[in-house]
Amino acid sequence: MTCADDGLGTGVSTAVVILTPSTPEKTYNRILLCKRGNCWVPVVSMKGNSIINRGKVRDKLLEYSEQVLSKKPLTFCPSNEDADRLVKEDPVAFVFAVILTQGAQAERMWAIPYHLKKIMGHLDANIIATMKTEDLSAVFEQLPQRPRYWNEAATMVIKAAQHINDRYGGHPERIWNDNPKGADLQSRLDSFYGIGPKKASMAAVILAKDMNIPVRNWNEIDIAVDLMIQRGFPRAGLSNSSSPSEIIESARQLNPSFPGALDQPCWDIGRQWCHPKVPECSSCYIGQVCPKIGCCASTASSTHAGD
Ligand code: SF4
Repeated sequence: MTCADDGLGTGVSTAVVILTPSTPEKTYNRILLCKRGNCWVPVVSMKGNSIINRGKVRDKLLEYSEQVLSKKPLTFCPSNEDADRLVKEDPVAFVFAVILTQGAQAERMWAIPYHLKKIMGHLDANIIATMKTEDLSAVFEQLPQRPRYWNEAATMVIKAAQHINDRYGGHPERIWNDNPKGADLQSRLDSFYGIGPKKASMAAVILAKDMNIPVRNWNEIDIAVDLMIQRGFPRAGLSNSSSPSEIIESARQLNPSFPGALDQPCWDIGRQWCHPKVPECSSCYIGQVCPKIGCCASTASSTHAGD
């Protein structure tokens, strides 16, 4: 086996194979490390006698993005057109939705800015910035679907409104409308209380890729590591663990031109097929190339590099 087997490119001269325990089968995965510059990079894994071709898994994920996801219209709230339109058209609503997207079904969380506006009669960052937490919590209490931590949610929304006023003069579109570099956009979003690196990556990719906001150096936008990605990457052999830093590094190596492009297909596949307890490998879009590491024996299979 050589470094060219991984489908990730050539220009590599040195290779070493290491063994790592594989659960739950209690066999060993063999991982081919190749030297690129001064770094040892894991490029091909072997499970049993089969090669996990990370290049093929990556290509299948990108194909899913191109062939399936890109043909779907961008929809945040499929069952509520007005809520969907609001987060697409009102930057304040978009920022609030990103902040509130956690701990519950994403579609419900993206609809919250619409319900807040309906109850309060506005989504004016100037006014919200001066609200008392208990007053906004009382509004959250009236929502048809509340975020899980709705007291904390009120604090986050007020702090976001204050940040929009202090940093962007009350114009949240200034976060992204100056043709920023990907890393700067991520960092601007990350500086909101309640967003953090994971949601900053997710929002930056949505803005740049789905909402066509001009962003320079897309390759600086990293994959947004959430539980879905932490489950999918090791199962698909794209990382050896669910460690966020390893997944981010792996995505950078797999798709250096735009690591964040792996986010959406992996997330969607996780939602549709790669369930925590019973993954539906037989119908999964990447089932033919995925090594299904750690999945039950009845669904597990491996992929040969030459397949
Ligand atoms: S459902 Fe199965 S085939 Fe699909 S990504 Fe998960 S482990 Fe791989």
